[in-house]
Amino acid sequence: MSGAAAGKTDIEKRICGWLADNRQGMLDLLEEVVNIDGGSYDKAGVDKVGDRFVRHFEERGLLTRIEPHEIFGNAIHVRLDDSPTNERPIVLMGHRDTVFPKGEPTRRPFKIEGGRAYGPGVADMKAGLVMNAFVLEAFKRMGGAPAPLAGLITSDEEIASPSSRPVIERVAREARCVFNSEPGRPTGNVVQGRKGGIFMRCEVLGKAAHSGGNFEKGISAIGELAHKIVALHALTDLPRGLTVNVGLVSGGQSVNTTAPSAEGRIDLRYVKPADRQFALSAIQRIVDTATVPGTTATLEILGEFLPLTQSGESEQLFDAYAAASKDLGMTVKGEFAGGCADSGFTAGVGCPTLCAVGPVGGNAHTSDEYLEVDSMVPRAQALALAILRLPPAG
Ligand SMILES: [Zn+2]
Repeated sequence: MSGAAAGKTDIEKRICGWLADNRQGMLDLLEEVVNIDGGSYDKAGVDKVGDRFVRHFEERGLLTRIEPHEIFGNAIHVRLDDSPTNERPIVLMGHRDTVFPKGEPTRRPFKIEGGRAYGPGVADMKAGLVMNAFVLEAFKRMGGAPAPLAGLITSDEEIASPSSRPVIERVAREARCVFNSEPGRPTGNVVQGRKGGIFMRCEVLGKAAHSGGNFEKGISAIGELAHKIVALHALTDLPRGLTVNVGLVSGGQSVNTTAPSAEGRIDLRYVKPADRQFALSAIQRIVDTATVPGTTATLEILGEFLPLTQSGESEQLFDAYAAASKDLGMTVKGEFAGGCADSGFTAGVGCPTLCAVGPVGGNAHTSDEYLEVDSMVPRAQALALAILRLPPAG
């Protein structure tokens, strides 16, 4: 990337100028998609958000292909044109589902106040999808990309991508690199590393008995779950970046019955890929070991994200992005984040990946979620410049 700082080339100027001219268009589309309901389990809603993006692309001459899913929202693939190519594409990725319950956009519609936009999913990550759409269109209009460009809009990231993971992994295996447009950190930094995470359910079975009349005949599943929780939490090793959290417990039948069943929901986080098996084995041993005689227990994986890991190639991707941002007057560093994202799946199949290149925002998953409106255009420009300055394939 040497010499990149020496001013912009003609195509760089034209693309950055076009993106700046389309600020209002970006905000208009963002308002529309934020105001459409789309929680991860609401297939109809998530598909409605998808339809809006598809219409946007089709009106502007980009090509879309729907990959349907019966339970969750459909995946949407975007290309600039249908010219045949053997080159590996640069993929701009993002998810359109949100964590919010049905009706949230009606209760809390899109608004802009004091330079910040609010609304469900405004930063995480509908702004990133809007940004991707306009960057793709800029290259469609003006060309200049060093490789074919593609877009991928997924549907269920907030619940660990049960339907999108195989799609993401297939696309990433064929891609030259992936930019994931999760919101930029409040500092403007991007994310180079993320923890892996696994959500699990541990179900313990005991035996019900009247705790007054027949106490000795009962077997307390809650008593056993309590032992297991203490053992599970003891697996946490902060310096190693490994944490085990039982975040939900339930169980029992009544206060005067020995609990016939109990359940704990376990959240495992880790940094090193090898720690996945290490921790899973340790958790399974705890689940299989009964401290209260007569109890049995099972472990089930409910959802999983892989860690976002760094390679030499993804380091180059970051360098290109950071240099492009610098030319636009922004200092961008790479951060490590404990939160998981689809970028772990793309890195997991060996695809160079940079995450959180979306417009800057914060307080995701809360009603205080916000987007810095003035970051929309500069982040789009930084992404476009980073793409323009990637070396041609060869
Ligand atoms: Zn997200």
